Amino acid sequence: MASDFDVVVIGAGTGGYVAAIRASQLGLKVAVVEKQKALGGTCLIWGCIPTKALLEHAHALKVVQNVKEWGVTIAEGAVGIDMNQVQARKDKVVGGLTKGVEFLFKKNKIEWIKGTATINGRGRVEVVDGDVQSLTASKEIVIATGSAPRSVPGVEIDRKRIITSDEAIGLREVPRSLIVLGSGAVGVEFASIFRRFGSQVTILELLPRIVPAEDEAVSAELQKSFRKQGITVHTGAKVTRASASTGGVEVEAQLSDGKVEKLNADYLLVATGRGPVTTGLGVEGLGLSLDRGYVAVDHLFRTGVPGFSAIGDVISLGSGHAPHPQLAHVSSAEGVVAAERIAGRDVKPINYGHVPACTYCDPEIGSVGLTEREAQEQGFDVRVGTFPFFVLGRAKMAGEGEGFVKIVAERKYDQVLGVHMIGPRATELVAEATLALRLECTVEELIRTIHAHPTFSEAVGEAAHATHGAAIHV
Ligand SMILES: Cc1cc2nc3c(=O)[nH]c(=O)nc-3n(C[C@H](O)[C@H](O)[C@H](O)COP(=O)(O)OP(=O)(O)OC[C@H]3O[C@@H](n4cnc5c(N)ncnc54)[C@H](O)[C@@H]3O)c2cc1C
Repeated sequence: MASDFDVVVIGAGTGGYVAAIRASQLGLKVAVVEKQKALGGTCLIWGCIPTKALLEHAHALKVVQNVKEWGVTIAEGAVGIDMNQVQARKDKVVGGLTKGVEFLFKKNKIEWIKGTATINGRGRVEVVDGDVQSLTASKEIVIATGSAPRSVPGVEIDRKRIITSDEAIGLREVPRSLIVLGSGAVGVEFASIFRRFGSQVTILELLPRIVPAEDEAVSAELQKSFRKQGITVHTGAKVTRASASTGGVEVEAQLSDGKVEKLNADYLLVATGRGPVTTGLGVEGLGLSLDRGYVAVDHLFRTGVPGFSAIGDVISLGSGHAPHPQLAHVSSAEGVVAAERIAGRDVKPINYGHVPACTYCDPEIGSVGLTEREAQEQGFDVRVGTFPFFVLGRAKMAGEGEGFVKIVAERKYDQVLGVHMIGPRATELVAEATLALRLECTVEELIRTIHAHPTFSEAVGEAAHATHGAAIHV
């Protein structure tokens, strides 16, 4: 096995493995060190893929629960969910994709070095996996070690009853009751999954609204839908303490009216964000600058210390920037930029204002660009247009009329500043909105873009019409 490379990437998540493939495509000799038994990192093993696989199961259950409406008959008997089969199918999906990355490594002649990496100085990495192996990187070491769940004061994760998403994706039972702490993407996705599976779900969110990063109208629509589905939502709720016993958890929270309440459930899922993984990596002695534990980088993912780059969930873009989005597609885009720069290509920085965000709860959320409030705060003369899905023929056929598409634009040049949608296929429809922002589209251009009929995408065209005060179908 070779030990001298041009580039050594530490971590085979969506950041690291994509950087490795791109660097190899550009003629560099690349190794990736990964301590897990499979490639793909958080996204493939514990994140995007397993959660969305579970959400597909929840969707299948929803369809079956509503078969009467479709005139489909099934034999008498209660509809249920077999968690062993759910887990088996989810594991098969995950296994297929992680093996796919292994195949891509072979195809691109990338060496997978199994074990835990420690950096020993410029161009030197030591890997421990029982044996110790020394690697050299003549050009660059790319730190792509990702993130891990973190908790809040008073809540200690025991991974049995007080769990994180890492444990929640593997549950082989449907909890009778589940408290979800935090209502970002991870929290509301698990709330949707387990409510559909049959759990009593309570969300506790510290901020005044759920999915707080989204446009306020989207938060309100999701909260309305969750209430209808029977999910209890407490916003402005501060959890002060949580304790686990063998059979469940007790959570103490100060609710928005100031009263302190004790809530009991089978499990507490802590979904309060993720912190950087750098422990044991040896970053401290290298002169790298750390920002709350994140590796600080510039717009081309240089750490400021020659020979070291960093990408993905582990990075901070420094003060003056919005928080770095911890998303798989962001880490991959950063991997491509970093690899091209290392290979000597002329590269452009990523525009973080054009990153789409998708939340796969039920109903789905897709958004890109400025919210209405952000646009106002930035001084734009804002106008908005909203179109509800329930009016669309395609949505009526599918029986999925919840939600809307909302366009945020500015009046002077008619430029689209942001698009926010909640409802059927929102996570797919956001691609058009992302391209619109990327191409600095006007609302007029979106209006003149012909959307096929009958499709969900007509809601985007109609929202553009609505922004000019001229929606056709409402
Ligand atoms: C439940 C959940 C759902 C999510 N859903 C989505 C989604 O739908 N869409 C989306 O865009 N994002 C989603 N995310 C976020 C997404 O998974 C992350 O943003 C993405 O995986 C970050 O990629 P990364 O390469 O930076 O790090 P990671 O994927 O975390 O990879 C880092 C890798 O480095 C390895 N490593 C760490 N230290 C060492 C070391 N010293 N030596 C060797 N190896 C090491 C780790 O084992 C890991 O494999 C989700 C996250 C979670 C938790």
